[in-house]
Amino acid sequence: MTSSPLVKELMVCNPIICSPETKVREAIDIMENHHIGSVIVVDNFSRKPVNIITHKDIISAIYHSKLDSPVSELIELLEKMELITIREDAPVIEAIRIFEEKGIEHLPVVNKEGILVGIITGTDILKGLPRFALIDPLTGLENRRVLDYLNQKLSRQKAKDLFVLFIDIDDFKKINDTYGHVFGDKVLKKVAEAILSSVRTYDNVIRYGGEEIVVVLHRVDEREAVEIANRIRDHVRSIKFKEHPEVRVSVSIGIAPYRGSLLKTIELADKAMYQAKRKGKDRVEVIE
Ligand code: GH3
Ligand code: MG
Ligand code: MG
Repeated sequence: MTSSPLVKELMVCNPIICSPETKVREAIDIMENHHIGSVIVVDNFSRKPVNIITHKDIISAIYHSKLDSPVSELIELLEKMELITIREDAPVIEAIRIFEEKGIEHLPVVNKEGILVGIITGTDILKGLPRFALIDPLTGLENRRVLDYLNQKLSRQKAKDLFVLFIDIDDFKKINDTYGHVFGDKVLKKVAEAILSSVRTYDNVIRYGGEEIVVVLHRVDEREAVEIANRIRDHVRSIKFKEHPEVRVSVSIGIAPYRGSLLKTIELADKAMYQAKRKGKDRVEVIE
């Protein structure tokens, strides 16, 4: 488990390339047509990146009258430094370090065979990071930062037709104790998937605590909220594990209608969840 995104998660795939024989003039056309600041030169046979041509190199090419020469000649003339690449499975933080250390702005991304698979720039990282800051790395669900954001957003508007589900896995400690934490993590992931498959894309599914998940249902009435909660309960009960076919997972779910504050509503849904636990688990309860 890593909380740092990987290069391959933020890179741009299918980067614009040219071959060493491409004329500098054509390389300029390629950059203009794609509105990009660089083009990666890739060896025709090995498909490995050999160098990168940037706007700065184009200015040098004009200065040295090399517009009709192949880019390989320009690379030689300018004695360009050896191309720096980064592996697709490296953490993004490694790319940031290279940008700072080498003063470069584009990094070709290669797979473990050294073949070009993408390109990453500082802008790609800036655009992609906020998305990662809101995602829980284990389950892929939203994390508590989303809750703070939603809480503020909802307090500014009059939230109607909103219900909160508080979901807690039953006897999860026993699963961990019997089968180990790694398997416990797998259970958690599967439960997250079961919940996601039971709600609509615009609902929020948030990992609230260790094995506690909060769902914010938008535009539903109580009947629909109960229906969705029971669908989640069924989906969780039908989860099967190849390595431990005897394992059955269940959840207890508390439901509360929105009451002026999201955090207050979550507290109420939590209370209802405890009622479900007290009444024997694997059930749905609406707050009284
Ligand atoms: P109950 O039915 O009353 O909810 O019983 P429980 O065992 O689920 O409840 P309890 O709160 O006592 O235990 C929750 C357990 O969840 C304890 C903790 O070790 C485990 N847990 C929390 N987060 C994680 C996680 O990320 N991975 C794994 N494997 N276990 C976790
Ligand atoms: Mg718990
Ligand atoms: Mg539990």
